[in-house]
This record gives sequence, C-alpha cells and structure tokens, in this order.
Amino acid sequence: MPSLLQDSYDRPIRDLRVSLTDRCNFRCFYCLPHGEPPIAPREQMLSYEEIEYVCEIFVELGIEKIRLTGGEPMMRQDIETIISKLARLKSNGLRDLALTTNGYFLPDRAQSLKEAGLDRITISLDSLKRDVFKQMTGVDVLDRVLEGIAAAKKAGLEPIKINAVVVRGHNEDEVADFAAFAREHDIKMRFIEFMPLDAGHDWTRDDVVSGREIRERIEARFPLEPIDVVRGSETASRYRFADGGSGEIGIIAPVTEAFCGACSRIRLTADGQIRTCLFSTIEHSLRDVVRGFASRTEVIDFIRSVVMKKEPRHFINDPGFVAPSRTMSFIGG
Ligand code: SAM
Repeated sequence: MPSLLQDSYDRPIRDLRVSLTDRCNFRCFYCLPHGEPPIAPREQMLSYEEIEYVCEIFVELGIEKIRLTGGEPMMRQDIETIISKLARLKSNGLRDLALTTNGYFLPDRAQSLKEAGLDRITISLDSLKRDVFKQMTGVDVLDRVLEGIAAAKKAGLEPIKINAVVVRGHNEDEVADFAAFAREHDIKMRFIEFMPLDAGHDWTRDDVVSGREIRERIEARFPLEPIDVVRGSETASRYRFADGGSGEIGIIAPVTEAFCGACSRIRLTADGQIRTCLFSTIEHSLRDVVRGFASRTEVIDFIRSVVMKKEPRHFINDPGFVAPSRTMSFIGG
C-alpha cells in the first residue's frame, strides 16, 4: 500500500480538482473578459481513459475528494461517462465526487448526472438581476440558470452550493439578497473574493470586496453565527443564520484572509498539467509522463515529486506578485 500524498510542509493532499475542458459558453468578465483565449488542441487534452487512469492512482495515493471543473465541464461531451467511471473509485477510498458548473445545461441533465453517480454540485451565479447577470457573464441566461438550480434540487444533488464572485461596482449590493435567496431555497451560498486570475489581467485590489465587508453587508439584514466546526482544509468560513433560518453562508477570502496553511488541493488541467497552487506559475506535465509509456510506479513517483514542490502559500499580497499566465478557465476553478 503506497503512503499517502503529503507535501514538503507536511500538508496532506486530499483534494483534486480536474478540469475537463478549457472551453466555456459564458464570458464572465473576471475570467474570460476578452473572449476565449486559444483552446488546447484536442490531441493535447486528456481522454476520459487517461483521466480515469490517473484519478485511480490519485485515489490510491489518498485523494478523497474529486471536483470536476473547467472551463465549463458540461461542455465536454457525455460527461456522465467520466462521472460514472470516477464514481466507481468510491470503493477505493474516494469519498466525494463533485462538479462545478455555470448551470446552463442542468435543466436537461441534472438527473443524468445524479444517476451517473455525482454526489454534489456547485453552481455559479453572480447576480439575481437579469441585466447585471448578463453584464457579468456575457450571456442573457439568468432564468435558465435558475431553472438549472431547481433541476439540481429536484434530482437530489444536495446540498447545492452557489458560488458568487463579488466584484466592486458590480454585485456587492446584492450580497444580502443572495443571503435571502439561500434562506428561501435552503442553499449553501459561497461568496468568493475576486482573485487576479482574469485573462485580461485587469484585476486591481480596488475591485476586491473583502470577506469582512461581505459579512457586514449580510449581517446588516441577517445576523450570522459562525458554524463551530474545525475548518481544516475548507476554503470557506461558514456561518448559519442566527434566527435559525434555512441555508448557510460561506465566505471564501483568499485575497484578504489567505488559508494556504491548511491547503490540501492540487489541480489537473484539461491538457494534463498538474498545478500545485491556483497561482502557480509552473506546471508539471502528467500527460507527457503517462503518454511516454511510464510504468505505474513511475507515474506515482512523478506525482509525489510534484506534490513536494507545492508552494507554501500564494503571493498575491507580495509586491513582486506575478499572476499566472493562464486564466481560471484553463486552470480549473
Ligand atoms: N464554468 C464553471 C462555473 O462557472 O462554475 C466552472 C469553472 S469556473 C472557472 C469555477 C469558479 O471559478 C466559478 O465559480 C467562477 O466564478 C470562479 N472564478 C473564475 N474566475 C475567478 C476570479 N478571477 N476570481 C474569483 N473566482 C473566479
């Protein structure tokens, strides 16, 4: 039995995010503001067989949670196939198989995702107002995403999480409305600080609405109480409504309250590169190793050596910070 993955700072690595595609049907201004950068040619993308092969190895090495993401992962054809392949890894130690999606394809597909073995879903939703939604995502499909959320609920993909990136001058005035939405629909809201991962490299610190401000804006309408759990490697600080209302609030504040010390995550891009941090400027090609006819032991050794290079923390707040050249849509959020 191989020993479990651990980095050079003794952080156990238990959480793998797998990007299924670079392509996306939305144009969120904080991710792909100037249209889609050239996407990886098909032959460079990992096949479902390759994803299944490496995920099986990752699970043997202690990965307990796999989150499928992108780009828009539901643009990858027949995503149910890879979900059902990965769901089989639950008998090997995988505990949680999740998906992050913009929700566009959910009205027709939520049920088939559930049947394929998906445990949980996170749906991105940046505004509850049609005009702001369109302005932030580049597409006029708020109603369809709301339908997708309802379909995910109906299919039993619960607890549903909703991600909203909060950006100054765009949607910070909606934070308490989102809290009301969480209460009404018994949903876990996750507010995310805007990070310097936009393709246009237009991010400035002035655009960031801090986690603290997000909490204050919610508390002005709905008092909150911290949920008393050991946070561990979780990205969100979690709160319940003090009056016992349904739903939950989570605040993800990587810019103003970094949580790198307990990070348990690594990422695999759609073209097979391992990234040890969202903000890494270096990638490690697992695809080349796998396609180079490496033995299973050699693949394991490669993964271990890469994990040992995981950065101690991100450097967003350092004067010499250099944003990664690839946007969130390539990295896999
Ligand atoms: N297309 C899917 C979706 O929309 O959820 C999955 C990929 S998307 C890159 C994953 C998450 O990253 C989304 O919730 C998105 O809002 C978030 N994201 C993208 N760019 C970001 C940025 N610059 N700062 C903070 N979050 C970002």
